[in-house]
Amino acid sequence: EQKLQLVRGRIRAFPDFPSPGVCFRDITPLLKDPAAFCAAIDLMEDHLRKTYSQIDVIAGLDSRGFLFGPTLAQRLGIGFVLIRKKGKLPGATESVSYSLEYGKAELEIQADAVDPKQKVVIIDDLIATGGSLWAACTLLKKLNAEILECLVLIELKTLEGAKKVTPFKLCSLLQYD
Ligand code: 5GP
Repeated sequence: EQKLQLVRGRIRAFPDFPSPGVCFRDITPLLKDPAAFCAAIDLMEDHLRKTYSQIDVIAGLDSRGFLFGPTLAQRLGIGFVLIRKKGKLPGATESVSYSLEYGKAELEIQADAVDPKQKVVIIDDLIATGGSLWAACTLLKKLNAEILECLVLIELKTLEGAKKVTPFKLCSLLQYD
């Protein structure tokens, strides 16, 4: 498909970043190319419109989920909420800690970000181990939201992040080994 090719052509690989053995998928060329960025949003919008009759909220992950989520939410005519790193959100929050390759991290959501039973799609740029999206799902479960799926631009298949977010569905536009 033409749009997918356009998107794929704007993802750069940086071997050994940020550490030896890791191949970093850089999305900055996609953001610099309005046609390619538009194609990525088109594909996400088409997928969501085809799959769901109702979505209430898009929830995006700090920080690159913020690059896609608001635009996508505008296209769908719905709201966008933030899932942020610890200590950034004012007021009452829910938080969850999760393990990284080295150490721990914590994500937070405002307690009133979504209402119980609201149908939510969670978005990020990329899924690696799935730890971040697992934490995001855990936060939305705490708020009693209905999680429809996790949606990412890029899935790193060999790290099996899809398993980590089970039982929730993971959808990706591009897959790499
Ligand atoms: P996970 O929690 O699934 O192991 O890691 C996913 C998170 O790390 C995402 O929020 C993503 O932005 C970031 N990340 C990890 N590896 C990469 C990468 O190769 N490229 C980009 N753009 N982000 C990455």
